[in-house]
Parts: sequence; C-alpha cells; structure tokens
Amino acid sequence: MRASACAFAGTTLSRIGDNWMSYQVLARKWRPMSFAELSGQEHVVTALTNSLSRGRIHHAYLLTGTRGVGKTTIARILAKSLNCVTGVTATPCGVCAACTEIDAGRFVDLLELDAASNTGIDNMREILDNARYAPTVGRYKVYLIDEVHMLSRAAFNSMLKTLEEPPEHVKFVLATTDPQKIPVTVLSRCLQFNLKPLSPQLIGERIGHILAAEGIAFDAGGVALLARAASGSLRDGLSLLDQAIAYGGGTVAESVVRTMLGAVERDYVYRIVGALAASDGPALMAESDALAARGLAAASALDELASLFHRIAVVQAVPDAATNYDDAERVAAFASQFSPESVQLAYQICAQGRVDLALAPDEATGFTMTLLRLLAFEPAAAVSPAIAPRSERAAATAPASRQVAPVREAPPASNIAAVMPLPASAAPVTAAPPPPGPVVALPAEPAAWPEFVAALKLTGMAAQLAAQTELKAINNNALTLALPVAHKHLADKVFADKLKSALEQATGRRLLLAFEVGAATESSLAATEKRERAEARAKGEAAFRDEPFVRDLLATFDGQVKPDSITPLTRDGGTK
Ligand SMILES: [Zn+2]
Repeated sequence: MRASACAFAGTTLSRIGDNWMSYQVLARKWRPMSFAELSGQEHVVTALTNSLSRGRIHHAYLLTGTRGVGKTTIARILAKSLNCVTGVTATPCGVCAACTEIDAGRFVDLLELDAASNTGIDNMREILDNARYAPTVGRYKVYLIDEVHMLSRAAFNSMLKTLEEPPEHVKFVLATTDPQKIPVTVLSRCLQFNLKPLSPQLIGERIGHILAAEGIAFDAGGVALLARAASGSLRDGLSLLDQAIAYGGGTVAESVVRTMLGAVERDYVYRIVGALAASDGPALMAESDALAARGLAAASALDELASLFHRIAVVQAVPDAATNYDDAERVAAFASQFSPESVQLAYQICAQGRVDLALAPDEATGFTMTLLRLLAFEPAAAVSPAIAPRSERAAATAPASRQVAPVREAPPASNIAAVMPLPASAAPVTAAPPPPGPVVALPAEPAAWPEFVAALKLTGMAAQLAAQTELKAINNNALTLALPVAHKHLADKVFADKLKSALEQATGRRLLLAFEVGAATESSLAATEKRERAEARAKGEAAFRDEPFVRDLLATFDGQVKPDSITPLTRDGGTK
C-alpha cells in the first residue's frame, strides 16, 4: 500500500490517498475507553466522575469545544458509565455486553445523531417520540446529538419540552463546536462542560506514547512539529501522525515531517528576525531568495514568523514564560531587541501577509513584500538603543516611512492597522495565532463540493483547479481531490498551493490537499455546469419539438431539428 503511494507521481500531494485506512486504525485503536485514559480535560472528568460516583446524574449534558478535543469520546464513556452491567459507575468495566457494544458503536440504546445532517424538526420529532419508550437492553437511553447548534429553531423548540421533563430513562449528551448558536432556553436546561484545546505538549506526549506502543521509530523534533500542527486537536494530531507514518515509510523523522507539513526550518526564521533587528535589508532579501530556492511554502514561513513574534511578545510580558519554549535563549535575546509595540506590529504584518498571499501574483512575491513591510513599518523609535546605529546599506533599503513612528498611529500608507486593529490588551499570552479572514465550513460530504467551490468565488488558477476537482474524501483537515487526466496539468504545485491558501483563508483552517489524477467521475463544478448547460439545451429542444407547429412540420415534411440552431428567446423577443 505504501509502496504504491510512494511511486505515485512523486509529489508530496499524491500520497494521502492510502492513509484513510491507517487513519481509521490509529484513531479507533487509540480512542480512550475510560475517563482515566483521556488526555487533558481533567476538569470535566473530575466533575463527571464525582457526579457518577454519587449517583447524581443530570439528564442533559452539553459538551462544548473545538474539533477533536474529546467530546464524542467523553459522551461514549458516559454512555458506558450509565449502562455498564456492573451498575452506574465512573469506571465502567469495559468487558460487559453494554460496554463492548458501545465501544463498537452498535449499542441499541446509544443513539448518535449528527445534527449537521439531520437539522429538521421531523428528525427531532421522531427521536423524541422514540424517547418515550423504555430502553431496549440498557439502563438508560442515551441520545448523543453532535454539532447540536446546527438544529433548526423548530427542532430546538420541539426538544425543549423533553429537556424540561425527560423520561427517567433518558439522558441527553449534546455536543457542539459553537455554543453561541444554541438557544438560551436549551442552554439553561443543560449541565455545560467546556472542553479545552489540548496543549502541544500534551498532544506530543500522546503521540509519543502511541508511537512507542506501536513500535514505530520517531524523533522528538518530528513529534513536536506534529503536535504544534495539530492546533489543539488530538484527532487532527493523530490524523497528521498517520500521514507522517505513511509519508516517512513507517518512521516519523523531523526532516520528513517538516517536508510533509511544508514547514520552514526554524533557523531561517531566526535569521529573518535577526536581519530585521539589524535593519539589514540585503540580508533579509537573501533569506527570502533562499526560501524561494528551496521551494518552501511561504504560508508556513509566515506562520513560523508570526509564531516567533508571539513567543517574543509573551516573553516580553512574562519573562518566565521563556522556559516553556525550546528556543528560549533566542526568544529572550530578541525580546530585548524589539519594543513590545514593534513586536505587536510585526505579528500583525505576518498575519496579514498570510492573508495577502492568496492575492499575490505568486508566493515568493507575496512573501518578499511581507518581509519588506516588516522592514518598512518597524517603528524607528521602538528599536532599542543597543542596535539603533544602522549601516548605510540598511538605511538605503528602508523607505522614508520607517521614520513614521509610533505604531499605534499607523502611517497613512499602511492599511494594516485599519484591517487588523490592535487589541486593547497586551500580548496574547496563550492563544495561538487566530485564523485570518471570514470563516466558512468545509463541505460535510463530497456531493456538496461543487456548490462550496462555486460559493468561494475563487479567481485565477485556484478557481480553474477547484472547478475541475471532485471531493473524494474529507478527513478532518485532509482533503482528497480527484482530477480528470485531461486537466492533470492543473495539479502543478504552484496552483495546488494557491488553492490551498485560498481554502485555508476561506475556512480559517490549515489543510492538506491530496490529488488523485484520473479518478474523477464527472461531479466537479465544471462538469456539473457543463451538464446543466446540456440539460437546459435538451429541455429547450424538447420544448421546441413539442410545439404543435413544429410537430406538424416534422411530420409533414419528414424534417429534422438541428439542436444547435435552437436558441432560447429572451423576454423582449431577441435571442440571448
Ligand atoms: Zn461494563
């Protein structure tokens, strides 16, 4: 399986296809089966464990938190706790019929519903009608409603009455990534637990544990990269881990993971920030060229830069925080070379530069312009006196706007402050860089892909490529796209990167795209539009043939209709 993947086209993009199986295996294999096995979320586990031990069980729980932090896992363990034959317990046995069937996903009294695909009131009525009946085999009927915020208002209303006075044998576990969208009337009837994103350390530990148990060779650097790329989601982390294992031919090494993630070696980032501190324009351009020559993704380079400025800002605000970082010494050194204001500005320029990448003529240009912006808009007054003397060279490179300080009154030439206003508070202390731009959800199923693509209003090659692709599979942040052989030239890395940037900007998520050339089945946006045009024409032709006058004509003169000659008339009688 892996051998064939490696032989495939030789690009980094083509290899994901075979990973779904191993993804299933790893994520299922390592799904925590008990509260004790659960990573993070101690506050939730403690509360649930206490209430289960005391037999004080609420009838409706609401679990909130981002993707892949354990909502469904906790819900299933709770279902086992309620239905284990050993009695209601915080430590279900794991071996009885109820426990094993819940683990296998086929326990008749655990009803899992994905509200994203069952939003209507009819579904809800059916469920609530069913709730009146006693459990078939278990002690409790547990309704797990995932993405509950997607329910329609009518569906929420019909749920209210049951939530107010639920039958004794019914427990609701509602899960959502977006609690803001849940009506207050529903919220007030639920016991709410907020699950936290997992720290990179915790995800790294878990990945390391799994790799060790699976007997897979790895190095700490590779695991740390995966853990950071997981963005707080253990599920995303395991998905990336699977890709890394397949990509690395059964091992997880830093260099391989770095290539897979398109991540930039950190040393570049230190040299770039060092050049900024020294106002050394030529050195900055040299680093930019080197990056382009190595074909490294500008988006991840800007991520790394933003991440470094974030660490610098944190250390400036809380010097002790440096011990959390593996590059503590360098971060501390930079922290003394920049003013907090210039670090804030630099962070914003990197974040905005990432957004602008999608609009740039090409990645290298977009990246270079962002570096120049960092150089140009670094407030002169903010640089510490220690490095204030600048070489003639650097002064020549830096435009006059450099003299326009202070940061909080952004120079008119810059729209950065207007686009991304400075936060009122100081440096973000723990938060990761937020995804820039407005956010739309990825399609829930392949069939919705053409509509999703059309709504994105992409331009240029990203639009061309997107229109010809079909969504074969979607698994967390990894999309497998099929491309007809006739359009395989569109799978070029440059176009693929443009599409990736555009999708990431639209969805606010980091994504992995894999292309399967030749696997298309005529359900791309382009194919759909072509079919719609053909159908419209056929309909026009049929309507034309049905005209009594035309029918007579055809019958009388044994004539033939030339389909291409049929043109629909516009309202005012002219042809379109
Ligand atoms: Zn049991």
